[in-house]
Amino acid sequence: MTINEAAAVREAPCPACGKHVAVPFYSGGDQCMATLEWPTSSEAALGLSRYPLNFVACVACGHIFNESFMYVNVPYSEKPNLMFNRGINWSLFLKDLGDDLLALVENAGTVVEIGYGDGSFLDMLAQSRSDVRCIGFDPHGATTDSTNAPELRQELFIAQAHIAELRPQLIISRHVLEHLENPLGFVEQLEFAASWHDLEVYLYIEVPCVDNAVKFGRTVDFYYEHNSQFTTDSFTKMLERSGLIIEKISHGYNGEIVSGLCRTSGNSAQVAQARHATEFRLEAAERAVRLSAQIDELADNNVAIWGGTGKAAAFINSYGLDAARFPVVVDSDPEKAGTFVPGTGQRIEFRDHLKSHPAAIVVIPAHWRALDIVKEMQRESIAPDRVLIEHEGQLVDFHTGQHPYGNDHALAG
Ligand SMILES: [Zn+2]
Repeated sequence: MTINEAAAVREAPCPACGKHVAVPFYSGGDQCMATLEWPTSSEAALGLSRYPLNFVACVACGHIFNESFMYVNVPYSEKPNLMFNRGINWSLFLKDLGDDLLALVENAGTVVEIGYGDGSFLDMLAQSRSDVRCIGFDPHGATTDSTNAPELRQELFIAQAHIAELRPQLIISRHVLEHLENPLGFVEQLEFAASWHDLEVYLYIEVPCVDNAVKFGRTVDFYYEHNSQFTTDSFTKMLERSGLIIEKISHGYNGEIVSGLCRTSGNSAQVAQARHATEFRLEAAERAVRLSAQIDELADNNVAIWGGTGKAAAFINSYGLDAARFPVVVDSDPEKAGTFVPGTGQRIEFRDHLKSHPAAIVVIPAHWRALDIVKEMQRESIAPDRVLIEHEGQLVDFHTGQHPYGNDHALAG
């Protein structure tokens, strides 16, 4: 690689696999939208806005994406993204695909299609299996008022909410992911939502495949709306990365599309992580209430807070140690003296302030500094009646209370 080529390597997150190293692949200059604007006059066509085509390729998976793409430029809200679904080969492909997918769905099961477009594929499924509930999601999709038709919801699919509500056996998404800014995130959300709700869900995803375009040097595939183009490799890596179990990767239409049939894996380790985080959040909220009540009782008791920045400032702000009720804040660091606590405004004094203005109670918000500060107080003959630290949502006495911060080795084991 020459120095110039090496210098062109850039940091850009791959939408398919998450790698952050990409190299320039195709620069098409500034071009107008190719499929979505539908100009109704020659003047309108000539006057269309133009957008930069700066396609790069991921070094890990070969995914090709326009690093200059901005979703806000794409007028999905005005025109549905209609696929041409009427060619004879295409119709046969869809019929076979529908039969294969329905074979996965048990009696009275539910099928969800994300991005149903004109609704024709979902309608075909609904017509061939009256026992299966078919529901489509697409904010810009078609509407229907016919009976015996699938339920078409003109809204975004929200993985956690809608998987919980509908408990689908099969989720289909065809020709959607190439339009998303974060397709990996999309499939990860589906995978995790199924795990969280303890469901095993089949997932069928289909996107255009640019293997042939890359192989034959075709550049017309790379236009603005198709900002994110899958190779077989990048598509497969995205599915693997998301934690899905891949049953089958297939190609259709002479290799111009690639599809994956996957199963969710029931990722118990990630669900456990999520539960831990949720417990932490709920407990933190309960502890804050208890601690604030305890702090309210301390007001007007000649309290000094030792520490006014960093974790100490977080403590002072989070638990309401305002300047009116808790005016005295000291710090071991003379450099901090004369500055003010962010957010609450107490003037920070050097610790020697406590020699001339003895405090009855010293609160030490930073657990990791507590032992050092207690030793510093002893050394400097600063002797409050009590030293308090927070532990598990309670203020406890440093010397007599239960906590793990009382000696140099307590936390190491
Ligand atoms: Zn990649």
